[in-house]
This record gives sequence, structure tokens and C-alpha cells, in this order.
Amino acid sequence: MGDCLFCKIAEGEISSGLVYSDEQVVAFKDIHPQAPVHLVVIPRRHLSRVSEVGEDDAQLMGNLVVVANQLARKFNVVESGYRLVVNCNAGAGQSVFHLHLHLLGGRPMRWPPG
Ligand code: 5GP
Ligand code: ZN
Repeated sequence: MGDCLFCKIAEGEISSGLVYSDEQVVAFKDIHPQAPVHLVVIPRRHLSRVSEVGEDDAQLMGNLVVVANQLARKFNVVESGYRLVVNCNAGAGQSVFHLHLHLLGGRPMRWPPG
């Protein structure tokens, strides 16, 4: 995916605050953090948005959550609470069109989200 920012981050072509990397999944610090802990968890494989996740991607999607949970423990936000967010399309706030989970924690969260 030639021009995708998160593909470039996953390939190491663009530096990011990398916090996790394995064969399938990469995670890094969000450049504009919305909470004391704000990480972005992505698959290495390019999928544009969560609505494109199908049956064949179920294991990959599960792995994203498993990695996010490990990072929540590592960054000490399990007990205080954390939020996993997936924005799908511009109307819901998606600005980078490579599937990603936001992991937010370290401050109280309100509901409903804006
Ligand atoms: P979205 O708005 O698509 O749900 O989330 C994209 C996120 O990626 C935003 O929170 C934004 O701050 C973050 N982001 C955009 N560009 C970069 C970048 O170059 N590096 C890092 N680390 N995060 C980025
Ligand atoms: Zn991509």
C-alpha cells in the first residue's frame, strides 16, 4: 500500500514511538495523545477500516485485542480502566485509513464519547 502512513510505520520507514512489534502486529505511541496513555495498535497487513474485517481476519482482529491487553498491563492502566476505540470512516473520526485500535487510559473517561 504505497502511500499508507501506518504501512510505512509498520515497515520502519517512518519513525514512531514503537512499543510493540511481532510478525502480525505493531503498536506505537499516538503522535497527538488524547490521554496520558494513548497507543495505536495496527496489523502489519493493510486493511483500510474495521468494516472490511471479515471471517478470514477474525484471528488477526483477536490478536490486536490480545496485544492491546498486554500493553494495557505494561502501561499500568488495567485497574484504573482503559478504552479500546476503533473509528470507522471519517464521520466517526477515522483519519488514517489503515485499521487501528486506539488504547486510551490514565485518566477518567466519559460516556457517551463525543
Ligand atoms: P484515527 O483518527 O484514524 O482513528 O486515528 C489516527 C491516529 O493516528 C490519530 O490519533 C493520530 O494522532 C495518529 N497519528 C497520525 N499520524 C501519526 C504519525 O505520524 N505518528 C504517530 N505516532 N501517530 C500518528
Ligand atoms: Zn496501510
